[in-house]
This record gives sequence, C-alpha cells and structure tokens, in this order.
Amino acid sequence: MSRATSIPQPAGADQPPNEAEAQSPSVRIIDARTAIDELIFAEDPWYALPLERQRELSDALIRQALREHLERCPSYRDYYARSGAAEPGAVALADIPLVSTRVFKFADLRSVEAHEVERWYRSSGTSGQPSRVPRDRASLERMVGSVHGSVGLLADWDEDEVAVINLGPGREHVEDVWFQYVMSLIEALYRSESRVPRDEAALDEIIGLAQSLLDDYEHLIVVGPPFHVLDLCEHMQRRGVELQAGEGATILTAGGWKRFGGRAIPKQEFRAVVARQFGLRGEGQVRDVFNQVELNTVLFECEAHEKHVPPWVHVAARDPETLQPVPEGEEGMLSYLDASCSAYPCFIVTEDVGVVRRGRCACGREGTRVDVLRRLESRAAKGCALKMGQIHANG
Ligand SMILES: [Zn+2]
Repeated sequence: MSRATSIPQPAGADQPPNEAEAQSPSVRIIDARTAIDELIFAEDPWYALPLERQRELSDALIRQALREHLERCPSYRDYYARSGAAEPGAVALADIPLVSTRVFKFADLRSVEAHEVERWYRSSGTSGQPSRVPRDRASLERMVGSVHGSVGLLADWDEDEVAVINLGPGREHVEDVWFQYVMSLIEALYRSESRVPRDEAALDEIIGLAQSLLDDYEHLIVVGPPFHVLDLCEHMQRRGVELQAGEGATILTAGGWKRFGGRAIPKQEFRAVVARQFGLRGEGQVRDVFNQVELNTVLFECEAHEKHVPPWVHVAARDPETLQPVPEGEEGMLSYLDASCSAYPCFIVTEDVGVVRRGRCACGREGTRVDVLRRLESRAAKGCALKMGQIHANG
C-alpha cells in the first residue's frame, strides 16, 4: 500500500483549491507525520497486529483526536466541560462524552472551518430528516486509506485479476449520498461495472455480465445492498440460472434492509440463497461491510463473518439508560470513537443494538469485532440515550 492514494471524486464535487491538485487531480500525497496516518497507510495491515499493540494504539490515537477536537470544536469543548469528564490525558475511553447521531440532523457540528469542508454528506434514509455530516480532506483521505488497508480481510487478490459488478449507480453518478460514495470506493479498487437492477431487463443483463466476467477474470466481486443481491438471486431462480462460480466469486453486501424498503431475511438464510445461486464453494464467500454516514471507517467482515474494528476506532456496547459499557459479549447500544475523522468529533452513540467481542476471532486474527444486530426499538431507551448524547451545537 502506497502512501499516495486517490480519492474518487463524486460528480459535481468542489474542485480542490491548491496548485498541486490542479496538476494532479486524482493523486494526493499523504503527509504521514502523524501516528494515525502511519497506521492507516501502513504497508502491513493493522489486523495482523497483536491485541495488546492494537489496544495501545487505540488509546493513544483516540486521546490525540480528543485533544484536537477539544481545541478546534467550541461546541464539543463546552459539552465536554459540562459533562464533568476528566482531562483528555486521564479520561477513560469509555467516559469520553458522546454525541448522539441525531445531532447531525439539525446541528452544524464541525472541528474545521467552513471552507475546509470538502463536502457535506447525507444519509440515504427514505423517511425523516436526513443526517448531514461534514468531511474535510484529511477525513476523506483516511477513509479511502482505511478501505484499501482493510479490504485484505476479504481475501488477498491480485488486483488485475478481479472484476467488480456494483449493483448501484456507479462512481460518476454519486452525489452527496454517503452510502453511494462508500460503495464507489469499493468499486474503485478494481475494474468495475455499475448496474442498477431496476427491472427485469437490467437483471437479465447483470446475469449475463456476471457470466462473462467469471469467464474472463479469476475473481468476480458483486457488491450491493442486500435487497438488490436478493432480487438478483430470485431473478436467477425464475430464469433457472445457477452460476458455477466455485471459489471465483465474492458477494459483498453493504447497507441495511430496513432503510430501503423493509424486506429482510435472516443472515444465514441469505448467505445460503446467494451461495446456491452463484454456485459458490462456501458461504464464507458471502461477506458484509458496515458503515454509517456519521462514522468515518468501513468495517469489513472476515471469513468467520465477524466485523473487525481497526485500532483507530474504539467501539463499545452500552446500557441505553446509563450509557455505561455492558459486559463483553452482551447486547448494548453501539458507540464509536473514530480517531480518523478530523472534520468533526466522531465520538458517537448510535441507535443500533449490537455486541462487541475482543480477543482471538475464529478466523485466527486478534482484535475487536462488532456485530450490528438491529435498530434500537424502545422509545424510552432511545429518549434517554438521546438526552445523554445531546450536544447543544448550533452552528
Ligand atoms: Zn475474524
């Protein structure tokens, strides 16, 4: 992995302002003076580090991010002071004051000047007020770097031998919807084709494309939201098509079910259907990634279907009433402290319920994993967590 990396620009993105950019619009050299950049853009993957080293890095990187946000974000600084938390050098990571993800629906929370915001990204929810989250250059570069540095959790492919079908609108049509931007990053790693499976004709075309790419390439990745992948598999069933991909394909899902129309089937059943229709060697070739607009890091699933969390992110499952971390392996409201985000204090408590595990994974790697189970349902719990995570940011 080189420290020079490129950020695929969504259509209509603001043009970079400085001269170096004008000469080289797609390649940006990272200044890796800081520890977090050393880690994100390292040659050796973070998931090969021993657990103890991951813990040390996590502690140092998150404390450094906390100091920077306290310095640069007045509304977070006020909120922190009111919370009574200990100073950044002494506070336990679990006690760092959290911002509710709801805040991004109404507040302009940022740690950079307005002109340093490359773009405001929004959530892709179909109902209610969308979240709007700022990203500056460094946050976007680290996001891209973290995708490059984590994709090895899927497999160690030679990039010339991989083709991608993205079941989405494709890079050139990505605007300010964060989900589409993230998908375009995965698509950007390899030769790729984008197709929205909007009707039967499009589905037929995708099946044909998958067949020909399987013939021409050593590996095919089909990436998309689970409901699109399921549509494709059901269409194959109707057409009597079963591909013979063997070990030559990975089906990668991203994004939830609910926000996109409500149809959902259990994960195990989903993997079985996909593995059968694509003729995969095993269900380990059906993987998921997790991200949300308020989080600056994409979490990839290993072959044991566990989402490994890199050391620059601290994840905890918390009691919805007290916001205190629950014992390891128990369900709680998920919170993230993401040190890769310089644009805003990415110390967030979400409305997802999940489980956090630390130690050795069934895949053999050490580290922290998170299982995102469902949205928080209880109105009372939501209200309480909201009250505690509410920052009074107003511009
Ligand atoms: Zn694993």
